[in-house]
Amino acid sequence: MDGLTRLQCRSLMRAAQNVAASASCLAFKTPPVRRNASTSTSGNSLAWPHNLSKTNCLLTPGPAAAPRKERVVILGSGWAGYAAARTLSPSRFERVLISPRSHFVFTPLLASTSVGTLEFRAAIEPVRRLGLDEFHQARATSIDFKNKVIRVEANERGDVSAATRRPQINGEEFDVKYDKLIIAVGCYSQTFGIEGVREHANFLRDVGDARAIRLRILDAFETADLPTTSDEERRKLLHFAIVGGGPTGIEFAAELHDLIDEDLARMYPGILDFCTITVYDIAPKVLPMFDSKLAAYATEIFKRQGIRVKTEHHLTRIRRDGRTLMLRIKEEPEEVGAGIVVWSTGLMQNPLVQQLVETEIDGRGKLAKEPKTGGIVTNSNMQVQLRWPDGESNDATATLEDVYAIGDCISVQGSPYPATAQVASQQAVYLAKQLNRGMGNFSKPFSFRNWGVMTYLGGWRAIHQSKADSLKGWAAWMLWRTAYLTRSMSVRNKIMIPVYWLITWIFGRDISRF
Ligand SMILES: Cc1cc2nc3c(=O)[nH]c(=O)nc-3n(C[C@H](O)[C@H](O)[C@H](O)COP(=O)(O)OP(=O)(O)OC[C@H]3O[C@@H](n4cnc5c(N)ncnc54)[C@H](O)[C@@H]3O)c2cc1C
Repeated sequence: MDGLTRLQCRSLMRAAQNVAASASCLAFKTPPVRRNASTSTSGNSLAWPHNLSKTNCLLTPGPAAAPRKERVVILGSGWAGYAAARTLSPSRFERVLISPRSHFVFTPLLASTSVGTLEFRAAIEPVRRLGLDEFHQARATSIDFKNKVIRVEANERGDVSAATRRPQINGEEFDVKYDKLIIAVGCYSQTFGIEGVREHANFLRDVGDARAIRLRILDAFETADLPTTSDEERRKLLHFAIVGGGPTGIEFAAELHDLIDEDLARMYPGILDFCTITVYDIAPKVLPMFDSKLAAYATEIFKRQGIRVKTEHHLTRIRRDGRTLMLRIKEEPEEVGAGIVVWSTGLMQNPLVQQLVETEIDGRGKLAKEPKTGGIVTNSNMQVQLRWPDGESNDATATLEDVYAIGDCISVQGSPYPATAQVASQQAVYLAKQLNRGMGNFSKPFSFRNWGVMTYLGGWRAIHQSKADSLKGWAAWMLWRTAYLTRSMSVRNKIMIPVYWLITWIFGRDISRF
């Protein structure tokens, strides 16, 4: 202590205390920065980490505050939105998802769930499992691109009611801010204004729809089996009409045939002769995306299974008549009765997209719109394009900064991709990876890798077609099942799906009604 004054001594001791305090503060694992949900839209309000007292932090400088992460808001939890949220780097971005439903649906398996081959849960993934910074079960109703704010309406029911015939319930409204926006709201079912379709047909777009279809099929069998039901009514109740000869309609018809043939035939032997399945389509042939040989094979298999395929048939009206539905088909002399009509044809733009492409953006014009589909036009980097301010020309003129769109609701300039899960998920992964790389670093344009098309035909047979090869029968069915299993998202479902297939194979399908 020689040579040191009392004052110098005290200063040294205080400095030593501070060093010790700093060390103890740094010894904490960097605490997770919690965002206060009610103020999250400001993007910079940080709540106190619960394991760090204010006093501690006032004593010491602590670790330098991490720079604010960019806030990426994704609209939609379908193939595009879910894949984008899953691929975006959580360390680089604050990931916010807004969707009226709190789950992702593995749509290719919906037909299997609607007949009890698979449990509903095996075809969905809860979005909250993604560990997002924020999730709002709500639908975007408008977007202020200038101020980067989305107007959102809560959807407490958690179903895609607007895509089906259930009326929407208006929820609470609030605003959500974004730094970058990814629009992935998909499409709705198109009913072409045909009378009675929205009210009486069943759609197949979500698990709620699949559940409704399963209940209706089983109800039809129970009602038809009542001793009080006439044969005439039985014939109508057990006529299952499917409108649309694309892969979804054909797969549903095939799955329904398997349900009746392998399970219900044993339970309702007395009424089996009244069962018919009909696929209606306005086109001259079903499965137009397959080459004519494979499409003919599918038609032949259906014929052998007793499924009627009526091409060039136009449904013009559906009306309810007591317990059954009556279908007016232009080409048939009399109305046709049916227990259920499954609608699986046509897409129309999401109302949000319809509204966005018609809204003027602060003197910069409107979003470019694809004239045929009405979808949002993007460039090959998935960046949303603008058209001339006068709205006359549809030619894209400029990029709308920080706004991207992917999936069924878009059209990529110069590349008309089909509205499929393959395209939607590949666009999402491409975009998220490019964003993870850093702002404006689009190293390459999006290019679609076509894995081919597949359709299940019933009785363990399918067809598959790709650029390299084509397959039919049992081998294609094996490929179909393997592909869907490997493409399913979570490890949980990768285990659950084969387990349910095995349970169904051993014990039969789940035909419980609840
Ligand atoms: C039964 C069925 C079977 C199919 N089988 C195949 C197949 O085997 N192979 C294949 O490639 N494709 C298949 N498809 C097509 C495929 O599912 C679609 O191409 C794909 O779902 C498109 O993905 P998306 O994310 O663009 O839209 P979607 O999957 O429709 O998702 C849109 C999302 O946006 C949400 N949303 C809607 N409005 C709003 C809003 N205003 N604000 C916020 N969120 C909103 C919706 O709730 C939904 O979560 C099938 C489709 C169906 C219906």
